[in-house]
Amino acid sequence: MYDIIIIGSGPAGLAAAIYAMRAGKKVIVIEKEYEGTGQIALSSKVDNYPGYYNIDGYELGEHFREHALYLGTEIKNATVKMIKHTGEVFEVTVKVRKKEEVLEAANIIYCAGARHRTLNVKGEIELQGKGVSYCATCDGSFFKDKEVAVIGGGDTALDDALYLSDIAKNVTILHRRDTFRGSFTTLEKLRKKENVNIITGVNVTMIEGEEHVEKLILDNGKEVKAEGVFIAVGMVPETELLGDMVKYDNAGYVLAGEDGRTTHKGLYVAGDVRSKGLRQVITAVADGANAINSILQDM
Ligand code: NAP
Repeated sequence: MYDIIIIGSGPAGLAAAIYAMRAGKKVIVIEKEYEGTGQIALSSKVDNYPGYYNIDGYELGEHFREHALYLGTEIKNATVKMIKHTGEVFEVTVKVRKKEEVLEAANIIYCAGARHRTLNVKGEIELQGKGVSYCATCDGSFFKDKEVAVIGGGDTALDDALYLSDIAKNVTILHRRDTFRGSFTTLEKLRKKENVNIITGVNVTMIEGEEHVEKLILDNGKEVKAEGVFIAVGMVPETELLGDMVKYDNAGYVLAGEDGRTTHKGLYVAGDVRSKGLRQVITAVADGANAINSILQDM
């Protein structure tokens, strides 16, 4: 029986583990087959985490993991299949290779994150980290004075385009419809920018490049030259395991304040899966610390 089971080993989960270990709690972190510490591991460079400028995202995540391990955190490589609350305890069914086992805890911190919706076009996976990015604030600075494209018509795409327009040589927005979901005000700002080109009613069918992104192929037969492409076609929170145990916001994220408390007693959320305004490493680690603080107060 654990005091806390942490589901997810990204920055939020590892920060929670560090705080839990320092508070003397019996804790275990469940991580899927190890491929790095969540989404941050996919970022080629991180420039906005204090003290670690110009660091590889994978490496930053490894520092978090080493810190948690140094404090003695138990990390288990397993896939969570089910979370059940039986009144007093949470039962978490995990699968390790072909074998299932059940772990018990008084509290859960769920930090499984959110995944970027993908375009599913040729070149997208192959050129990830080589010009294909899902995070303008993480990777934008690496495209100073270069040509970039942003795909999508929501607030993220428009905000990304505005942010990139101050860094890149030019920005081409590619959106599949003629009207935008994102803010009218941001769109107006973008229309006034000399280095922003907006193309609507198009779909990207292929991202091309040898070592690095070179151009995008559109479904109208035209091409757009770009060294960087920022895909901003929405996020998909990883909430399938929680079902109706918690409440969600309109975009499907778990409703919880900065304290991480959900509507279900003993179940806390931290990181990108939580309903919030800024999804970055720095807010994820803060969530992890806050969730432990809430558990200590609620125990
Ligand atoms: P979103 O609002 O769901 O927009 C996703 C965009 O991607 C839409 O324009 C959609 O096109 C397009 N899209 C989806 N699948 C596509 C595909 N397969 N191929 C091409 N285009 C595709 O997502 P978001 O922009 O990430 O925003 C998520 C939520 O956060 C929203 O509620 C948003 O308002 C909020 N947000 C707010 C701010 C802010 O207030 N500053 C900033 C960022 C996000 P269609 O329009 O044709 O469906």
